[in-house]
Amino acid sequence: APKPLAAGNWKMNGLKASSSEIADLAARLKAAPAGCDVLICPPFTLVASLADAAAGTSVAIGAQDCHAKASGAHTGDVSAPMLADSGASFVIVGHSERRADHGETDADVAAKAAAVQAAGLPVIICVGETEAERVAGREVEIVSGQLAGSIPADIDTDRLVIAYEPVWAIGTGRTPSAADVEAIHGAIREKLVARFGAAAGSMIRILYGGSVKPDNAKELMSVANVNGALVGGASLKAADFDAIIGAW
Ligand code: 13P
Repeated sequence: APKPLAAGNWKMNGLKASSSEIADLAARLKAAPAGCDVLICPPFTLVASLADAAAGTSVAIGAQDCHAKASGAHTGDVSAPMLADSGASFVIVGHSERRADHGETDADVAAKAAAVQAAGLPVIICVGETEAERVAGREVEIVSGQLAGSIPADIDTDRLVIAYEPVWAIGTGRTPSAADVEAIHGAIREKLVARFGAAAGSMIRILYGGSVKPDNAKELMSVANVNGALVGGASLKAADFDAIIGAW
């Protein structure tokens, strides 16, 4: 099985003072080493400074999005090579908040994922159904379509992570049951194995995200084919995130 990954997505939160959370987290992990890889994805404004602050620790720093092009006339956007240059060692693409707030399509997400890998970095591609889609029993169909459309043709599976985040579980305190998580992660695994073969497909990490907290992390992270977490709110404080990391 792949080594688990505990990833924090700070979303649009964090100021310079947040550097103390990285220092706190690094100190905790030095005292009690994690049984997983640890990543924090702050807003663009903090990527370079936090990457510097985390250098030499077991905390990696990543970004939450990038443009599909490497450079050019795209005011306000940030490219994958810029993020690599800033010290990012991962980039998340296709988060449901990007898909909803910015109308990103599967094709947009695939282009961004390809740009991340072209810049030499691993990519976390997010998928997940809405509440209406879940109620209609369409979650496997929706997620399968997102996987097919959002993973670019020439992906390097050694540098690919999938994050399953049901939209209705994000920031709501609600989570699917362990049985429902097992069913959808199993379906995602089947799709990855079908597309990339058993050897590569079984080593791609599939993260669960959506209201992961210290008190539910152990149960969610022990489900078959759950190879880590993508954590929003509970990644902002080192103590909370460290408690989630304790699930391994
Ligand atoms: P919460 O952990 O705050 O529910 O957010 C999940 C998420 O969207 C992580 O990318």
